[in-house]
Amino acid sequence: MLGHVSDHPAEPAASERLLADLRALLRPDQIDTSDSALDLHARGESWDEARRPDVVVYPESTEDVRRVIALAYATRTAVTPVAVNSSLGGHTVPVAGGISLDLTRMDRILEIAAEDFLAVVQAAVTYPRLNEALRATGLFFPVDPGAEASLGGMASTNASGTLAVRYGVTRDLLLGLEVVTPTGRVIRTGGRAPKSSSGYALTQLFCGAEGTLGVITELTVRLVPRPEAVMGARAAFGDMRGAVGYVSEIIQSGVPVARCELVDAAAIGAIRQHLGLALPETPTVFLEFHGDDASVRAACELALALAEEHGAATAEQATDPAALSALWRARHQAYYATVAVNPGMANVITDLAVPVSRLAEVIEGSLAAVARAGVPSYLIGHVGDGNFHLNLFFPPDDAAARARVEAAYGDMVALALAAGGTCTGEHGIGLRKLPYVRAEHGDAVDLMWAIKDALDPAGIMNPGKKLPQREGASAEADARLR
Ligand SMILES: Cc1cc2nc3c(=O)[nH]c(=O)nc-3n(C[C@H](O)[C@H](O)[C@H](O)COP(=O)(O)OP(=O)(O)OC[C@H]3O[C@@H](n4cnc5c(N)ncnc54)[C@H](O)[C@@H]3O)c2cc1C
Repeated sequence: MLGHVSDHPAEPAASERLLADLRALLRPDQIDTSDSALDLHARGESWDEARRPDVVVYPESTEDVRRVIALAYATRTAVTPVAVNSSLGGHTVPVAGGISLDLTRMDRILEIAAEDFLAVVQAAVTYPRLNEALRATGLFFPVDPGAEASLGGMASTNASGTLAVRYGVTRDLLLGLEVVTPTGRVIRTGGRAPKSSSGYALTQLFCGAEGTLGVITELTVRLVPRPEAVMGARAAFGDMRGAVGYVSEIIQSGVPVARCELVDAAAIGAIRQHLGLALPETPTVFLEFHGDDASVRAACELALALAEEHGAATAEQATDPAALSALWRARHQAYYATVAVNPGMANVITDLAVPVSRLAEVIEGSLAAVARAGVPSYLIGHVGDGNFHLNLFFPPDDAAARARVEAAYGDMVALALAAGGTCTGEHGIGLRKLPYVRAEHGDAVDLMWAIKDALDPAGIMNPGKKLPQREGASAEADARLR
């Protein structure tokens, strides 16, 4: 039977009834039960448990979403929203089956109000597409996760990226949302004013909810002016300690960086192999500065002088667009390079974020944990805001290696939490980080469940994600599987 969230799981033909109900709401080409569609929606970008949905549904409007959610609520059917499907923690695996709600057809840019520094978009507009449309305005949307993610997906994971150290994360750039709630109501949160003290901060609540509190159908996002001048720099160090010490000083001494990224020697090796770039195979810090001509030059000079003081082996700057894009090409391709040089391997990626003053010790401890696991690993990080990823590879059928990786993962999270940090700076919880949520939030998890219950009384929205199972409750009970 379909993974129907039903009071009577054994009831015959429940799935056929769901399909018949959907056909009454949507055109045939908006409903797909083909093997290829179900397989495509069974997993995300990450190596994690896969589970097919029973049906893939493609809404094209808020009204389509509303009708599908109202039906799912009435029939207790699980719904997993999905857009570009680039999330890295199993966020979009429909663990309870049901409907995979593929939003990719909701991709219209509805309004660009340059005079108010805002844009209104449907949920599946990607940030590169929005930025392309903004080209003539002198404005841009500054959150840039490595994948070409959708704005609805980015809001749902509170994504950030290389520019967050300067412009903030997605949550900082949301003015308002249109949301279809889990009971099938359409609500608007926030507005167009640059600030507001009105009501509860629902925009911020839906941001980062990973599709567990409703479906975002429309977003009003802040835009920022494109910088007048941009300069980049790259500094290579003999060891990680030198590179991390340098980063800490850059941030703590207030050098105004727009990007501050660290790539370790192993990841540089993968980039060299994958892209054929002639980079020194040592820990490398990538920097960028935004401002006017004089300010970016001053900041870049200061950063290069500090690099020398910290014993950088090489340090170089880039000003013209071609040199800048060559400089950043290596960084942007780092994740895919590590995957490409490990064909056939499974991987898990950490996403720790800690106060900058604790970065050095947590990176050092994390590298020791990975060494104990004895698997290939690569460090890539938005270290300017205390966030770094370790990408760990292992043969998918090697249970012992997987267990060592899981143990190292847990050790690393424990280090971050002990340092006042978080198990996820930007990727979100999904399935992968569920074991760490209680350790990070303690009894506040109970309040989170109270919010979930209030908004999603039938437990249909992306069940099994974001919040750990309640004590004494089965996963099925949490999803109201009856
Ligand atoms: C190479 C690579 C680099 C990456 N780099 C970064 C990075 O630098 N920073 C970063 O933050 N992330 C990064 N990511 C992760 C990923 O790109 C982000 O998590 C992104 O925000 C996901 O957007 P998406 O459109 O792919 O969403 P999906 O993966 O489709 O969905 C993500 C989550 O949001 C929910 N969701 C999606 N759309 C909606 C909606 N409209 N309403 C309600 N819920 C919804 C889904 O149910 C799911 O829980 C990277 C991923 C890859 C593969």
